[in-house]
Amino acid sequence: MASDKFSPAPDVEAIAQKLIATIPDHNHLASAKIGYLFRAGEWKKRNKIILGRARLIKGETKHLTGLDFTIVINGDIWPALPPDAQEALVDHELCHCDSEVDKNGIQVWKIKHHDVEEFASVIKRQGLWKSDLTEFNDAVKQHYQTSLFTPAGGLAPAPVAKTAKTA
Ligand SMILES: [Zn+2]
Repeated sequence: MASDKFSPAPDVEAIAQKLIATIPDHNHLASAKIGYLFRAGEWKKRNKIILGRARLIKGETKHLTGLDFTIVINGDIWPALPPDAQEALVDHELCHCDSEVDKNGIQVWKIKHHDVEEFASVIKRQGLWKSDLTEFNDAVKQHYQTSLFTPAGGLAPAPVAKTAKTA
C-alpha cells in the first residue's frame, strides 16, 4: 500500500533550517514541526509544473504525526535547480507557513497566500494599477539595488520562472 511517490528530503530541510534561523520573517517557525518530502513523477496543475507546495496539517493527521506543516518539493525538478533557486524555492514555501493569534489569544498556524496574483497581460496593458503590484515592484527594485549578483543589463528571468509555478 505504501506509495513510493514521496521520499524524505533532508537537503530541503537543511536549507529550511538555515533560513528559519537567519531570516527574521521565518524566525517564528523555529517552534513549528515541518515535514519535508520530495515528490517523484509528473506534477502539474493547469498545465504548469508545480515546484513545491506547503500544507497546514490539522485534525487527526496532526494528532497522529505531530506535524504542523508539510513542505513537498518536486523531486524531479530539484536536482536541476541551481543552489540559489533551491534556496528561493524553500524560502517561498516557508513564506506560506504562517501563524496568527486567534480570538482566545492562542498562536495558531495558518497558510499564508501569495502577496500578488495578476496576469502579465494586464500589467502590460494597465501597468501597476493596484497597491499590491506597486509593493511588488518596489520589492523587485530593492532586490536588484542590494543584490551583489545583479546581472549586467538588468533583470534576468530565473530559468524555471516562465514554465513553472509554486503552489
Ligand atoms: Zn506559493
